[in-house]
Amino acid sequence: MFYIVGQKQGRFAMNHFPIFVALEGRRVLVAGGGEAAVAKLRLLLKTTAHITVVAPQIDPVIEGWAREGRVTVIRRAQEPGDALCCVLAYAAHEDEALDARTVRLSAADGALVNVVDNLLASQFITPAIVDRDPVTVAIGTEGAAPVLARKIKADLEARLPAQLGLLARIAKTFRRAAEALPMGAARRRFWAAYYEDAGPRAAEQGDEAIRPALEDLLADHLSADARPGHVDLVGAGPGDPELLTLKARKALDAADVVIHDRLVAPEILELARREATIIDAGKEGFGPSTAQGDINALMVEHGLQGTHVVRLKAGDPTVFGRLDEEIEALEAAGLAWSIVPGITAASAAVASIGQSLTKRGRNGSVRFLTGHDMKGFADQDWRALAQPGEVAAIYMGKRAARWMQGRLLMHGAAPATPVTVVENASRADQRTIDATLATLPEALDGVSGPALLLHGLAPRAAAATLAQSEIAL
Ligand code: SAH
Repeated sequence: MFYIVGQKQGRFAMNHFPIFVALEGRRVLVAGGGEAAVAKLRLLLKTTAHITVVAPQIDPVIEGWAREGRVTVIRRAQEPGDALCCVLAYAAHEDEALDARTVRLSAADGALVNVVDNLLASQFITPAIVDRDPVTVAIGTEGAAPVLARKIKADLEARLPAQLGLLARIAKTFRRAAEALPMGAARRRFWAAYYEDAGPRAAEQGDEAIRPALEDLLADHLSADARPGHVDLVGAGPGDPELLTLKARKALDAADVVIHDRLVAPEILELARREATIIDAGKEGFGPSTAQGDINALMVEHGLQGTHVVRLKAGDPTVFGRLDEEIEALEAAGLAWSIVPGITAASAAVASIGQSLTKRGRNGSVRFLTGHDMKGFADQDWRALAQPGEVAAIYMGKRAARWMQGRLLMHGAAPATPVTVVENASRADQRTIDATLATLPEALDGVSGPALLLHGLAPRAAAATLAQSEIAL
């Protein structure tokens, strides 16, 4: 993933860096001649490496491979120099002392050493692989969860079509031809259509149908008018990636460019296509209106290049998201757009306190308010909201809290009206503060993340205690 602004927020260091090592014509040493060696050799024999097995005792299976000329056998214990010019060496004695000796000797000879089934003693580890040559999927858990790795492998084995390797090999011979399409989005669309649809369909009719299908597909794509870009205005939800809609997920999978707000969680950006350009259009609160103009310009600029743009907005894009201004800019530029709804902060906040936004006999309507508008603190129908039982979800309410408190009290609201503050709703650092209208401004001290105020609602547990004490009175 390519970030223009902002940094990838890796919290855990990757201890094993995945790479694919070219083994053609290179030497690999396997020290040990038993079952563990046989298992490693089965994998290594998929390559064209020159493989040497060194061990006093050699399993008959390995003897067979030696007779076929596929491995070289040295029938003695490993000696210094055996691993010279080897890229990799495997210690496969299933014996700690012998393996330790192999590590020492091979490292001295300059090879990277793996000790079978011993993560800590190994300089490199071999991942679980799904083989659709030339497509190889490597799965590693840094030794933490081999069972999980096996499950992922099984899932992928089931999901990746058996002809994937064949499709990729034929594609390789077609790369030149495909260069007739302009580089970038157009070419990507072509290859996506091949792998996802045209290729597998052709393969069902037989291998020889694949190349003609590619030719037809290319002709289609060349003749199609350069497609105009498309902008999806996508709700990223309140922060928990599991609260993304499937549509949002798909849009992120397909996006060439993702333009996101400051509030969109890094875990969600991680889900974007790896090659996607990620642009942070974050702006503080209701910042200067020029910033919005810049965002509009960015969307239009990328959209007009024919790319698939995802404009990723916190929560639901239709709630306090300046959506109309963005749509007007897209329409003025003649770009197609669509809205993908998201879960708004109010829904996540109210869920976190086990309450319902509406309730029979309590409130038959609910207000979504903003504490700020373009002119500053936003005026609202305070008289109506001050009535008992009324519920409002207040967005951007932190700075306006004291002012709103004054307005509501002036219009007759009870100082004991519950107001629950939910900070970072649905995120790992979610926090709820059980306040009242009287204590609200103080309750907000130290709240630094995005916060939603639920006017008229206390957390369910607190509400129950309150009801109890009222009965006691
Ligand atoms: N479109 C967004 C709202 C954008 S306005 C939505 O539908 O949720 C930004 C305000 O939303 C913040 O000031 C805060 O009040 C609220 N907000 C957004 N994400 C939040 C979260 N995870 N927890 C609490 N409040 C949040």
